[in-house]
Amino acid sequence: MRYTQYFLKTSKDTPADESARNAQLLIQAGYISKEMAGVYSFLPLGLRVIKKIKTIIREEMNNTGAIELLMPSLCPKENWKKTQRWDSVDVLYKLKLTNGKEVALSPTHEEIVTPLVQRFCNSYKDFPVCVYQMQTKFRNEARAKSGLLRGREFLMKDAYSFHTTQEDFEAYYAIQKKAYEKIYDRLGIGHLTKYVAADGGDFSEFSHEFQTLSEVGEDDIFLDPETDTYFNKEIVSDANQKKWTSQKAVEVGNIFPLADKFSKSFDYHFIDKTGKKQKIIMGCYGIGISRIMGILAELFADKKGLVWPKSVTPFTVYLSAIGKKDAVYEKADEVYQQLKDQGIEVLYDDRREKKVGPGQKFADFELLGIPYQIVISERLLENQQGELWTRKTGKKIDIPLTDILSLELN
Ligand code: ATP
Ligand code: MG
Repeated sequence: MRYTQYFLKTSKDTPADESARNAQLLIQAGYISKEMAGVYSFLPLGLRVIKKIKTIIREEMNNTGAIELLMPSLCPKENWKKTQRWDSVDVLYKLKLTNGKEVALSPTHEEIVTPLVQRFCNSYKDFPVCVYQMQTKFRNEARAKSGLLRGREFLMKDAYSFHTTQEDFEAYYAIQKKAYEKIYDRLGIGHLTKYVAADGGDFSEFSHEFQTLSEVGEDDIFLDPETDTYFNKEIVSDANQKKWTSQKAVEVGNIFPLADKFSKSFDYHFIDKTGKKQKIIMGCYGIGISRIMGILAELFADKKGLVWPKSVTPFTVYLSAIGKKDAVYEKADEVYQQLKDQGIEVLYDDRREKKVGPGQKFADFELLGIPYQIVISERLLENQQGELWTRKTGKKIDIPLTDILSLELN
């Protein structure tokens, strides 16, 4: 992608109306734009990061046997009445249609997925089944000051599984847990992400959260040294809260045994081998896609800007052409094409206006957080050389132009 043809503008200034570091950085670097508190546009660069996160999640979900679909955001009130959540979910947005009928703007999709799967899966032969989607969720959050960490509108991957026995559910729950661990490893936050026992609501003893350690987290997690198990604060007794060490963390995922809470609400059963009606056991599995982008921006940054892990970076190489001479841009054009041909994602800073000097280009490279910069300049070109910068270490080395294509960048 050529900078001059892209939809990108960085800023020197930190946005005044953002207190969260993730939003400050992502806005300054041109990844997102704020529409109102808790509501953001994803600009082309930001969308590339979102797509990378989604690809990792999608691959691991598909490996569990889950099947992707897409459900709507609008949901009839009667579904929420059936599950008795119309009045109890405080973040629920409620809308009125022109005919006066009320609908919910879905904050989660049990109320849609349960009757949907009910229309298709009824015999024991149809199970187990797990469906998932990646979609915008709406929650009327009271406080939305944490940038992408808490949106009023945000992206979530949500999966729902349906089983004929508790044992089958438990086996699949363990498979999902493993998939989640793989996802956080691939995102570069596996070492910081803990499996935490949390409140299971009124239908199971525990649910499990994936909590990424960070000072900006709103959750407190406690480690029980005896069992080496993490617990969320809400289920730790006062006595243990005094004894155990606590750490701040961000909830990046939540897997949840639902027992027959939702299948029961919709009178959804399956017919077993003998023709008898039996209860259906469900589980749900959520991941905050946009929240993950936010926590990555919090964790992978330094004074100069973002430092993306390679697995989610919008581009692998920032190619800077420095100077006024045509020869520099001709050479850079050539290198740009060669890198692209090799399947390397390149953002080519081909700006030639006077006001965009080397300082501006290098600052943009550092702010954007792309792993490598290749510099082509008049001085270097005299010796048929370019320069390779590594964002994470700050290391700069001269390399013969002929060697650029043999660099292992991906
Ligand atoms: P929280 O306790 O942080 O409000 P939650 O437990 O209500 O979150 P879930 O219903 O478990 O959230 O949603 C699944 C995942 O979606 C969460 O683990 C989190 O990563 C993400 N998520 C939830 N609420 C938000 C939000 N307002 N903005 C961004 N991501 C969110
Ligand atoms: Mg949760």
